[in-house]
Amino acid sequence: METAKLLPDASGYTRASAILAEGGLVAFPTETVYGLGGDARNDMAVARIFEAKGRPRFNPLIVHVDSVETAKRYVEWSETADRMASAFWPGPLTMVLPIRHDTGLSPLVTAELPTLAIRVPEHPVARALLAEFDGPVAAPSANPSGKISPTTAEHVDKGLSGRIEAILDGGACGVGLESTILGLAGTPTLLRPGGLPVEALEQALGAELAIHQSGDPLTAPGQMTSHYAPGASIRLNATTLNAGEMLLGFGPVEPVEATMNLSPAGDLTEAAANLFHHLHAMDALGPETIAVSPIPDHGLGRAINDRLRRAAAPRP
Ligand code: AMP
Ligand code: MG
Repeated sequence: METAKLLPDASGYTRASAILAEGGLVAFPTETVYGLGGDARNDMAVARIFEAKGRPRFNPLIVHVDSVETAKRYVEWSETADRMASAFWPGPLTMVLPIRHDTGLSPLVTAELPTLAIRVPEHPVARALLAEFDGPVAAPSANPSGKISPTTAEHVDKGLSGRIEAILDGGACGVGLESTILGLAGTPTLLRPGGLPVEALEQALGAELAIHQSGDPLTAPGQMTSHYAPGASIRLNATTLNAGEMLLGFGPVEPVEATMNLSPAGDLTEAAANLFHHLHAMDALGPETIAVSPIPDHGLGRAINDRLRRAAAPRP
């Protein structure tokens, strides 16, 4: 795929917004780093974000919106959230809040956590794109997994050229650090230090923040425990069906008939987009065991297998 270089002018925004609306990916500047944006409501678009970055896991993504009003449609708002938003939005602050029901967001965005990370960016190019697109944009940093976050369009080009539809070139990012992540689903907790100093947060909060020490916010107590685990047990790499099992297929599964198929064509992006939906739907049918066809362990298959192994792991 040819990655288009777009300029931050009327035609660039129209084109970038159209690409997002069609499920394509657009890298765009924010005041922190360049984000790799996709429509947060579109399963295929979100699956492609993981694929383009080569992420080995479905970790949750930050959703970017144009205003506090829009944010309130997706998360349970609170007095503290309101205070933080008045002080720091638009800006390099991400808030993690309880997600509302029926938001229409892809389950891949939250990796099925009951919370959503959300932010209103300040960069004029990000704002103009969000205004034009008029929808929630999931955007991790626009770099291959494990590489340094990009602060110029050239960095993005080096890492992701040929893997995404377009790069909106807005010059160098001002902050150059990721957004600060504030957890507000329980005790206010600093989940990740970033472009907004903790001191500023604490001053606006009028209290000290609990600080989550590890680099990964999701190792914070309670963050991962409510992860969805199916009622059925899961058996991986199934090539035959046992009694009491239903088959979640991948690719052309013969001779057994799959109850559902992640991707009859054997397409890993399609399988990733369907994964959480199909697991929920099959679990609702109440089988003793969900047997899952072998899934190749490369590209998005690694993230799919990672998620399935967790679902298959014995539970306490
Ligand atoms: P990046 O993908 O580089 O933009 O980083 C996003 C960060 O936000 C990762 O460290 C995620 O683990 C974190 N994150 C996203 N959603 C949540 C959530 N619901 N709860 C806690 N951390 C989150
Ligand atoms: Mg990153």
